[in-house]
Formats: sequence, structure tokens, C-alpha cells
Amino acid sequence: MSSIQMTPVEPVKAAVGEIPPVFLPLNAGRYTARAARLRHLAEGHPMADYLGFVAGLVEAQQRVLDTLPLPSALIDALPERLGQDHPPLECSTFPRGAYWLAVLRQLGEHLEHPTLQGLLQQNALSLEAAADALLTGDYEQVDSGQALFLWSALSLYFSQMAAHLPASGKAHGEQRQHCPVCASAPVASSILTGAHSGLRYLHCGLCESRWHMVRLKCSNCEATGALDYWSLDTEKAPVKAESCGECQSYLKVFYPEHDKDLEVLADDLASLGLDAEVEREGFGRSGVSPFLFPG
Ligand SMILES: [Zn+2]
Ligand SMILES: [Zn+2]
Repeated sequence: MSSIQMTPVEPVKAAVGEIPPVFLPLNAGRYTARAARLRHLAEGHPMADYLGFVAGLVEAQQRVLDTLPLPSALIDALPERLGQDHPPLECSTFPRGAYWLAVLRQLGEHLEHPTLQGLLQQNALSLEAAADALLTGDYEQVDSGQALFLWSALSLYFSQMAAHLPASGKAHGEQRQHCPVCASAPVASSILTGAHSGLRYLHCGLCESRWHMVRLKCSNCEATGALDYWSLDTEKAPVKAESCGECQSYLKVFYPEHDKDLEVLADDLASLGLDAEVEREGFGRSGVSPFLFPG
């Protein structure tokens, strides 16, 4: 379990120089920016068709966010989730309401796709079972084509709740493999620029919160001294893979200082060539890939 605990927001501002343990997501314009980045990365890319298809899905997410935002009753219930030992939106146990299914149906209104339309023919019970499997990491239970759409709806649900969570993070240890807000796995990490320059944050693949973790430890097993960095081109590459010789896992690291337009989920998908190289060296990805589920 994460050693960052979410506690009700306190009126006192963090002291200068203090490291914020968590940044809750800011969703305004997120999907528009992500779709634009995906379309930019698609130009001349060997996976251009897939990047373009995902851009269309992300644009549909933006339209759902604009037209069917999280109902206020769900926002009002969020404070009750705080003050417990586990992450407030722990995704495997969180009692999902019907809203996420409404989000899935709305995605189907905005996106003509046979897999999505087929998914919408299923009853709520089997959709909920598929969501349970995805959120507990049992990816083999779900068709990977369907998983993409289910995860897009679930992520829209969890990221809006996270954005409205009246809480801030409190650090009390080093166990930080999972998101302190929803307990899901990271997509990747990035090394911030600006006010928090040089700090490493892991980016949640479900609720899109970011949480702090020191750079010298493996984000999976916390070992120090066994980390290696891989990139496909130069030393100053904006994306590298950080592998750990201790647990044989890797997670990508993004460096916005080398490309200010980086968008973690879009750039993760566009850099799967790096994953292939690192996996060939015998390392397994420790995080999730929201646009490419196994199976
Ligand atoms: Zn999360
Ligand atoms: Zn490790």
C-alpha cells in the first residue's frame, strides 16, 4: 500500500521548498491537448493509424467530459472517502455507480466503432465484471480491443473524482509503487521542470494523479544502485526507459526539459519501440499502458 496518505485539505499552505507528495489531476482541456499531441506524433510514425484512432477516442473523451460531467451528488460524497487507511478511490473496491456506464454509452454516441458498439450490446452485469477484471489487473479476462474502451470510460470516471477530491497528500514512508488516490499502477514517470524542477513524479494510468518518488530508487522494488537508463537515440532523449537489475522491471521516464510538448500518455504510446527494445533485454514493464492492454 502506498505510503502517501490522502488527508482532508488543510488551510495551511505548504512551506516553500517542501515537496508536494501528490498533484491531483487538472482535467480542463486535458483530452484536447492529448489528442492534438497524438495527431502530431502520428505524422510519419510507423503506428500512424493506431495513434490517429486513439486520438479520435481521446477527442470523444473530451466531448463526454464537456457534455456529461461527474454528477454533483458524486462530488458531494467524496469527503466521506477520506480519513481511512486505504487510498480514497481504491479502484478495486470502490463502489462504482451507474455514471461510468453512462460515460461508456456516451463514448459510443461520439465514436462509431464496431468493437465499442458490440460492447454496448452487453448487459450491465457483464460490463461491470469486465471492469472488475481490468481494475484488479486481471487483463487476460478481457478482450484487449474492448479493454481500451472500458478503460477510457473508467479513467474518465476516476480522474474526475480525483480532480474533485478535497484532499492533499501526506508522505510518511517510501512505499510508492501505486497511486495514493486510486491504487492503480503508473503509466510512466516524468522529471518536472519549473517550480518543482528535477523532481520525479509517477503518473497514474487511471485517475491521472501524480505522486512523488525519489529518483535514485526503482519505482517497483525500491532497490537503489541497480538502475540503468535506455534510450533509442541521444543522451538527451526526452524519453528513456529506467530498468532495474534487481526486480527485472522497467518504467519509462519522460524529460519535458528536452521536449516541452511531451504528454505522458500520448508519448508513451508513440514510444513503444523503446518498450520492445527493453523487453528484448529481458525486462518486464511494471506499469500499465492505458491504450494498449495485453491479451
Ligand atoms: Zn490514481
Ligand atoms: Zn526494482
